[in-house]
Amino acid sequence: MSESWGYGVDNGPVHWADKFPVAKDGRRQSPIEIKNAETKHDPALTELILSYDPSTAKSLVNNGHSVQVDFDDSEERSVLSGGPIQGKYRLRQFHLHWGARDGHGSEHVVDGQAYSAELHLVHWNADKYESFELAAQAPDGLAVIGVFLQVAKHNPALKRLISSLDCVQEKCLRIEFNDFNPHTLLPPSLQFWTYLGSLTTPPLYESVIWIVLKDPIHISKEQIARFRTLQFTGPDHLMKDNFRPPQPLNNREVLRNFQ
Ligand SMILES: [Zn+2]
Repeated sequence: MSESWGYGVDNGPVHWADKFPVAKDGRRQSPIEIKNAETKHDPALTELILSYDPSTAKSLVNNGHSVQVDFDDSEERSVLSGGPIQGKYRLRQFHLHWGARDGHGSEHVVDGQAYSAELHLVHWNADKYESFELAAQAPDGLAVIGVFLQVAKHNPALKRLISSLDCVQEKCLRIEFNDFNPHTLLPPSLQFWTYLGSLTTPPLYESVIWIVLKDPIHISKEQIARFRTLQFTGPDHLMKDNFRPPQPLNNREVLRNFQ
């Protein structure tokens, strides 16, 4: 693998195991293909409760792999509870994965269908762990909500994020991004699948309770095209196809909270 991981021919997902053996040796890697008929309805799963304080939004950054909004998680102000998780998990950041063209680009796949992008809202268990870094290495440390994006009509909820992308075209660029409630990005119904998995980027720690929403949100063709103008490492390497393909399920159980 070349110097650092990425999504290219020389440093993409098939090479990650060279430096991160868990990529091939792990038993709970993500993403996965969800086959709905093989999932199990669990009536004990309560509804998700997202309690986000818009003033915790801090900044928007191009980290060279994705575009990410970071939140102030020093206090318990923006939290996720309910569903498969115990207690409260603090919102740390959200970011997206997308394809070079419409119709692929999501990380999770449902019954053979990929979506054009996937939003990840990353939360950590501050009740149990002292820092995000420690939580990210613990089996119950993180809870990530995955939301599919389907190319259809214009999505006004994405407008502000997308209009800010011009300011973070290059790797390491960061701008202030305040007063934003990511709840506005979610679909009206929060029906979900849940399973135990991993980070989908190196170091691929097996620390994530995944919550994948069944219903996608919309994005227009013009809107998603703006994500593809961001740069991975320079103007010759535009940020697209920044997704990992599905990994072996290895007998894991995928639960759902809907009939
Ligand atoms: Zn992600």
